[in-house]
Amino acid sequence: MKAFLFAATALLCTAASAQDTDAPILFTNVNVFASSSGQIIEGGEVLVRGNMVSEVSETPIAVDGAEVIDGGGRTLMPGMIEGHGHVMLASEPATMLLTQDAFEQGARAAARAQAYFEAGFTTVRDMGGNCFGIKKAIDAGVTMGPRIYCGGASIGQTSGHGDFRMPTDGHPRFDGPEFSGNANRQRHTLIADGVDDVRAAVREMLFRGASHIKIHAGGGVTSFTDPLQAAQYTPGEMKAAVEEAERYGTYVATHAQLNNSVWASLDAGVKSIEHGLVLEEDTVIRMAELDVFYSPQAYLPLQDVSGNPQFQAPIQQGKLALVSEGARTAFELAKKHNLKMLWGTDVFGGASIFAQFRQEFAFRDMFFTPTEQLIQISANNGAVLALSGLKNPYPDGALGVIASGAYADIILVDGDPTQDIRILMETDNIDLVMKNGVVYKNTLD
Ligand SMILES: [Zn+2]
Repeated sequence: MKAFLFAATALLCTAASAQDTDAPILFTNVNVFASSSGQIIEGGEVLVRGNMVSEVSETPIAVDGAEVIDGGGRTLMPGMIEGHGHVMLASEPATMLLTQDAFEQGARAAARAQAYFEAGFTTVRDMGGNCFGIKKAIDAGVTMGPRIYCGGASIGQTSGHGDFRMPTDGHPRFDGPEFSGNANRQRHTLIADGVDDVRAAVREMLFRGASHIKIHAGGGVTSFTDPLQAAQYTPGEMKAAVEEAERYGTYVATHAQLNNSVWASLDAGVKSIEHGLVLEEDTVIRMAELDVFYSPQAYLPLQDVSGNPQFQAPIQQGKLALVSEGARTAFELAKKHNLKMLWGTDVFGGASIFAQFRQEFAFRDMFFTPTEQLIQISANNGAVLALSGLKNPYPDGALGVIASGAYADIILVDGDPTQDIRILMETDNIDLVMKNGVVYKNTLD
């Protein structure tokens, strides 16, 4: 496995450095997945100039001096977007919090980012973790990986879902920030209580470079001291967060599993509901009426509860059982009411857990057609990224679509994922990865 990864890395480096970035690139002989319609353009051609898609055509494109990539009948689709990721959380939480300093975490995050990239994910919407540094390093070309829309620390109340202090840690207000534990001190999560503190925490994340804000509106499975049913944050605190984000032209997403936290989020003006796996129908109807994004996960709750490696502590097992019971109904209701569905995995933890994250495709396959999943992972996820508005780190074009004026984030897939979505579960089927007009991976002959 190590040897394979090393070889893959060498391949990626060579491909990227060999490219003449001035010449246009013409993809020929490809079936183009048009994510806005869900249609396939058979035998299409796509022209890339610089870092943007210039033209998409069903007929040959005449262009001088282009570097031609013959796709050999493969599927050309937008680079995939992870809608709910945690690039910095690349080890088990307890290991991270007890034994790792920020430098080790950064090295592990770089490896995680590259693994996403090789798997065909050219953008990650990061929903919690101090991802500003890894994002900068990737954007500067220091290390390879996807674009990152970084929310920074997820913001939560004392003893809420974002409170990952160990039992012997102090509290940032009562004992001083230096004693408040790794999660808080390293800014993977941020404890903020009261309207003024929440405003300051949101402003602090915006200062660091957040493209969106993530707050915790209710209990979660991973955390140790909050019941799943707990309402977290008062209406005033939540409205303050939304107000501060909107003043800077961006939006708030909330961790909200149950009806109470989803309703409170909607009341406050939140635009993206993360998880939302235990829902009644009237909640789903209100989400549809308000046209918010719904960002659930299928693999995390629907795999075998007792064997789930991410949640082995007894309190986590109890909470996971509740979420698992609700998830199937939540997916069915979301489909019935046509919610704007995102595709995200919420994967965190070490390499063995990450190796399984694309099981999300197989579990969603129980509810959605392959084309519906492809739209979720491209056009829908691209639409939520655009909500970052004035804080969008990549504001010059659309992501998640293959169209003139969109960023040239493109993958070539061996096979037709509109017929079998599981093709996307194998890194070997992702034959080419282009980001921002640069080919980083190319295993075509
Ligand atoms: Zn998450």
